[in-house]
Amino acid sequence: MSSNRVDEVLTFPAWPQHGPEERAGLLRALDQEGWWRNGGSEVDSFEEEFAALHGAPRALATTNGTHALELALSVLGVGPGDEVLVPSFTFISCSLAVQRTGAVPVPVDVRPDTYCLDVDAAARVITPRTKVVMPVHLAGQFADMDALAELSSATGVTVLQDAAHAHAARWRGRRVGELGSIAAFSFQNGKLMTAGEGGALLLPDEESYQEAYLRHGCGRPPKDRLYEHRTQGSNYRMTEFSAAVLRAQLSRLEEQVAVREERSRHLMAALARIPGVVPQGRDERGDVKSHYMAMVRLPGTTAERRLALVDRLISHGVPAFVAFPPVYRTSGFWEGPHTGDVDDLAKRCPVAEEIGNDCLWLHHRVLLADTPVLDRLAEVFASAVAAG
Ligand SMILES: *Cc1c(COP(=O)(O)O)cnc(C)c1O
Repeated sequence: MSSNRVDEVLTFPAWPQHGPEERAGLLRALDQEGWWRNGGSEVDSFEEEFAALHGAPRALATTNGTHALELALSVLGVGPGDEVLVPSFTFISCSLAVQRTGAVPVPVDVRPDTYCLDVDAAARVITPRTKVVMPVHLAGQFADMDALAELSSATGVTVLQDAAHAHAARWRGRRVGELGSIAAFSFQNGKLMTAGEGGALLLPDEESYQEAYLRHGCGRPPKDRLYEHRTQGSNYRMTEFSAAVLRAQLSRLEEQVAVREERSRHLMAALARIPGVVPQGRDERGDVKSHYMAMVRLPGTTAERRLALVDRLISHGVPAFVAFPPVYRTSGFWEGPHTGDVDDLAKRCPVAEEIGNDCLWLHHRVLLADTPVLDRLAEVFASAVAAG
C-alpha cells in the first residue's frame, strides 16, 4: 500500500451524464407539434427501442418506477384482499406500490449473499390470498429466476420483476424481457439510465400491453376522441422530453454496463481483502450484471458504526450510503394495508434484520472510475474501517 494520505479526497465520474445526443433529443422533442405522447413520436420510439434491447414483445413508458410497479400490479388484477410477496430488503416502492392498490404487502426475507428474495422463505408464506411475488434484481444481482419460475408454476402465483436496477442485465443468456413476466424499470436520477424521473414496463404479451396502455392513460384507448374511459387507471404517461433524453441514454448503456462489470470485479476483490468487509455475493447465472450499487456488508457492526464509516468515506469524496432498513421498520409501511406486527416480521426475516444494520453501498459512478482510483478507494476504505 502507498502512504496513508488521511486527508485525501478522491474524485469520481459524474452522474448523470449527457452529451450532444441528449441535447439534440431535447430540441427534437421541443420542435414537435405536441409535448405529450399523443403529440409526438419520442415516447413511441423509446418504447420500441427499450423493448428491443430487452427482448420484450412490448414496452410502455411511465412517469416513474413506483408508478410502473403500481400499474403492473393493477394489470395483474391485484387489489383489496390480495397479498403480494415483496423482499423485506429493498427500496420502499415495492411495498408502497402494493399498498396503493389496496393489497397487503408481505415482506419476505432475503439471501445473505445476493441480498435478493429468498425463494424458499417466499414459498413458506404463500396463502390462498397470495396473487403476486415481486422479486427485485438488487444492485445488479438477479433474484433466482429459475426457482421463482418453479414456485410460480407450482402455486399459480404470478411473478412481477422489479428491474429498477437491472437495465440491460441477463439471466442465463436471457434478457429481462425474455423471462416471461412483466418487469418494471425506473429512470430516476440515480438509475443506470435516467431522465431525472421516469419508468417503464416490459410486457410479455399483447394482451397485458393493451391493458397497461389503457390504464396508463386514464382508461383511454389510443387516439380516443370520445372520452371512452374503458377501465380504471390513472395518468402514468411519460413526456416526450423524458423519452427523448432516454433514447440518448440508451446509446451509452451497454458500454457502461460492461465497464462497471470489469471495475466491479476489481473493486470488490480489493474490498474483500479488508478484514470485516464482505462484498455482495455474485450469482453467475446472471451472466450480464448491471451493477446499480456496489454493496458490502460489515457483519457484526452496528448501525451507528456503519453511519460513522459512511461519513468518513464521504469526507474522502466517496459517494457512500447506508442501505435500506427492512421495509417493515419504516413508519410509512404501517400506515398502509398490512398484516402482523414488527416483531412477527423481524422474527421471520433474520437476514434483513442484520443487513438493515450492516450494509452500505457506493454509487455506481464509482464503477466508471479507472482502476488506480479504485485501488486508492480500497485503501481509503480500509483505513476508514480501521478507524472504528
Ligand atoms: C428506484 C427504485 C424504484 C422506484 O423508482 P422511482 O422511479 O424512483 O419511483 C423501485 N424499486 C427499486 C428497487 C428502486 O431502486
